[in-house]
Amino acid sequence: LQQLKASKVALFGLGLTGMSMFRYLQKHDIKPDVFDGKFEAASSAKNSELFDGLNTQFGNITDTQFNGYEYLLISPGISLTTPAISNAIKNGVQVFCDVELFARVNVKPVLAVTGSNGKSTVVAWLTDFLNRVGKKAVVCGNFGVPVLDVIDQAVDVFVIELSSFQLDTTESLKCEAATVLNVSPDHLDRYESFEDYAASKRKIYKHAKLEIYNANDELTWNQSEHAQSFGLEKADWQYVPDTQTLCQNGQVIADFSTFALAGHHNGLNAVSVLALASAVGIDAKSNIDSLSVFSGLTHRCQFVVELNNVKFIDDSKATNIASCQAAINGLAANKNVILIAGGDAKGAELSELSLDIQNYVKHVVALGKDKQQFVQFVDDSSLTLVESMPEAVQKAYAQSKPGDIVLLSPACASIDMFSNYQARAAAFIDAIHHLSSGDGHE
Ligand code: ADP
Repeated sequence: LQQLKASKVALFGLGLTGMSMFRYLQKHDIKPDVFDGKFEAASSAKNSELFDGLNTQFGNITDTQFNGYEYLLISPGISLTTPAISNAIKNGVQVFCDVELFARVNVKPVLAVTGSNGKSTVVAWLTDFLNRVGKKAVVCGNFGVPVLDVIDQAVDVFVIELSSFQLDTTESLKCEAATVLNVSPDHLDRYESFEDYAASKRKIYKHAKLEIYNANDELTWNQSEHAQSFGLEKADWQYVPDTQTLCQNGQVIADFSTFALAGHHNGLNAVSVLALASAVGIDAKSNIDSLSVFSGLTHRCQFVVELNNVKFIDDSKATNIASCQAAINGLAANKNVILIAGGDAKGAELSELSLDIQNYVKHVVALGKDKQQFVQFVDDSSLTLVESMPEAVQKAYAQSKPGDIVLLSPACASIDMFSNYQARAAAFIDAIHHLSSGDGHE
């Protein structure tokens, strides 16, 4: 911090994380120049007062804007390939995000989690579990609570969710244990290659005392002696789908069928939580009851309602292919799923869903920007293209029979039609409540 105080510092981006950095710098009497690409950032009187006496610039950031600064603090939403940022890096400016600042200052134990899917579920579950067994844990990071907002809290352990964007600009995060849960194609629009994206996730291991990797996903592996694995087979912490049991070093320690959460992906999430908790001294077997009660987060395979024996499930958070696959495989009993999917595929090939759809889905209702992709691999008779969520829900319900599941699991981002995945879920739920008898069922 002393170094920052004596240096020329720029802060770029004033969203949730940017404002959190700003507050932290202010608290420590560090006065950055403040930038945001949007003019509106300056518009609220509240903001302009906050920035009194500081150099500010809103809108029109030039490509060489940050040359000449010693430090540039950026929000994770801003890509390193933005010309102003890549130029700054070339010119020797130290560029990092709030997590790196946290890492340089924090002295308390940290458990860190990244991955393409399951991050939020795992950090929420781990935090819940630790608190139940008497360790004061606070969840932060990509979960929606910026790390600098909680850094001064009295805690036993910080549980930090990290996106690959945050990891791109984080170098010195020390942790008791770190895990990459899984790596599957996502955000390919922001990385040069899939391997770049995977490598960015594995940066989380850099200063970890214990690396926890997924035995069944090579992209999560790192060569190290301080490692433990979780997975479906040949792992230190194992979830066995056939018997629905959790095992530690080959010994059964829990019956997963008694847990509040279901689905194979959650069996895997459960063992990763146990592995992480053991790194801060929590015994798995004697504390299973405290693990089994967690009932999950909203919009992740969440049951909404049952109408005429048809269940509606909201998995709006499934914004990539692997999460949609997890939902289909975790929920289907033979071919009883009517899938509502589509949106912005973010450069991914939706045809990778082809096998899962063939095996478990009786009908696909596709919407959004990339809905035409489904035409290439789903039979005409099993596909309906729609324009809106109410239409999607109506058509899906009309296709259903008692015992079926109408599953919203889009495999795509929502941004082409909705402000975020929560708004997409709200539209889904609203449309269900407006279903009438004319929609296909007596
Ligand atoms: P993230 O924070 O990584 O986006 P979430 O916990 O919010 O992860 O879940 C995102 C989506 O991924 C949801 O659709 C959820 O059902 C699914 N999911 C959760 N855990 C896993 C897992 N281990 N593997 C694959 N998909 C998962």
